[in-house]
Amino acid sequence: TIGYFNGEFISVEQLVIPIDERGHQFGDGVYEVIRVYDGKFFMLEEHIERLFKSAQAIRLQGDQSIEEIRQLIHEAVEKSGLADCDVYIQITRGVATRKHLFPDVPVSVSMTIRPMKPTSDTVREKGMKAIFHEDERWANCYIKSLNLLPNILAKQTAQDAGCYEAILVKDGFVTEGTSSNVYIVSDKTIYTTPLSKHILAGITRMAVKELANGLGVPFVEKQFTTEELMQADEVFITSTTNEVMPIVNVDGKNIKDGSAGEMTLKLNAKLMELVKSVQHT
Ligand code: PMP
Repeated sequence: TIGYFNGEFISVEQLVIPIDERGHQFGDGVYEVIRVYDGKFFMLEEHIERLFKSAQAIRLQGDQSIEEIRQLIHEAVEKSGLADCDVYIQITRGVATRKHLFPDVPVSVSMTIRPMKPTSDTVREKGMKAIFHEDERWANCYIKSLNLLPNILAKQTAQDAGCYEAILVKDGFVTEGTSSNVYIVSDKTIYTTPLSKHILAGITRMAVKELANGLGVPFVEKQFTTEELMQADEVFITSTTNEVMPIVNVDGKNIKDGSAGEMTLKLNAKLMELVKSVQHT
């Protein structure tokens, strides 16, 4: 597995980050996870755009242009020799003696390129279980920040309960998953939480919205409650690494008969068609 830190490509096992890295000490940075299918990036430009948006939102201004970051990502994937992989890239406020105030140093850019671990069809067709969990995060979840403590605590709680994801709830309404967007299907209509500062604008969400439009399925961006979710015909989550994943049981209770939804699996099939058709290189 190949890694990158501030100008150097090196194996992940050998890659060492300075102790005073602000990503390490403060989580003072932003990141992206980008998938490469069969040597082709999926929605690379959208990911890079979101990375820069997140950076701007935390007043992180690097010297690197969008073109340079794109070039760097391409170079890393080429060096990895992997055709199917997940790119992790993070930008932080750099390496400087630990002090809260912004240091006057260059930003740090780091990456790992790891082989993709595809979800088997059997697993997807069976679907995943989830729990509801209080959304304990901050007010700016639209920023893909390195600060993921509430997310990892909620995800671990889900895992401890034998579940895959925690569906986060704020004031009775579903916001999103710890690392995914959440949707329900009722009366052949897809509902998902509207974009706001409280959720991440998922790139997969963007793709699914277009796919729904293409299928002529209404895609309604409207808040829904935990009760509405429990009564839905289908529930699913999306993310770069999960693609479209059925949720069949929440807090130990089945969604309908507890099997993966038809619309959900169709959307995933459409997403996979889209992945194969794109020529982003
Ligand atoms: N919400 C959160 C909190 C996430 O961490 C992720 C995964 N990056 C998503 C939604 C889904 O985003 P994407 O489809 O861009 O991977």
